Amino acid sequence: MFVDTHAHLFYPDFAPDWDEMLGRARADGVDRFVVVGTDASTSRAAIELCSGRERFHPTAGVHPHEAASFDEAARADIEAMCRLPGVVGVGESGLDWFKEFSPRAAQLEAFRWHCDLSRKLDKALVVHCRDAFEECFATIEASGARRGVFHCFTGGVDEARRALELGFHVSFSGVATYPKNEALRAAARFVPADRLLLETDCPYLPPQGARGRRNEPSLLRRTAECVAKERGVALEELARTSTSAACALFGLE
Ligand SMILES: [Zn+2]
Ligand SMILES: [Zn+2]
Repeated sequence: MFVDTHAHLFYPDFAPDWDEMLGRARADGVDRFVVVGTDASTSRAAIELCSGRERFHPTAGVHPHEAASFDEAARADIEAMCRLPGVVGVGESGLDWFKEFSPRAAQLEAFRWHCDLSRKLDKALVVHCRDAFEECFATIEASGARRGVFHCFTGGVDEARRALELGFHVSFSGVATYPKNEALRAAARFVPADRLLLETDCPYLPPQGARGRRNEPSLLRRTAECVAKERGVALEELARTSTSAACALFGLE
């Protein structure tokens, strides 16, 4: 069975067919979820959604798109949530130079703060990085944070190597199935099995063949099939190694 290590399951998109969606996920071998917050209110929603559900694990953090509104009150909220025992990660946070919805200086300041919190709590830092690898690596390195994941990885072998050198995991999403992303698939062949994770980032970024629709956890399987084929391993083997890597990173049983 697979872990979907990055799913925004609190979005209203999933409410109408929640049970059917989870049924499809289980049928396709996805039975554990890291539910990732993107600001104070969705982090709270992630925690609420996961409470009382055994195989759902929340994180709390502020997405770089929201960095401009990351004020004192939000910091206090996020820190309190990240300190809760069931919260398995800090983020998502990071740098997005591609969309740049928040000014770069605000993104950097927010990201530094999340890096420090991850180091202090020794909880996985969930990193969102778009067109900002150099600045992400430098910020992580300076902070001393050494536990985390580059989620929805979009780099090549060189960027994967740098992430691994920092002690981080690398997570592949449906983007790895897009025909033009050959450099990304080279990274998927390169990352050692004990550092390789899988995710959907749903409801965003459905894999090839499902583009234009809402993404959902069952579609993780298509990414897994693509990554397994690239690596020349059986799907069951990838399920075993990626699940144990996810459990090690997020401290799951
Ligand atoms: Zn992201
Ligand atoms: Zn995300």
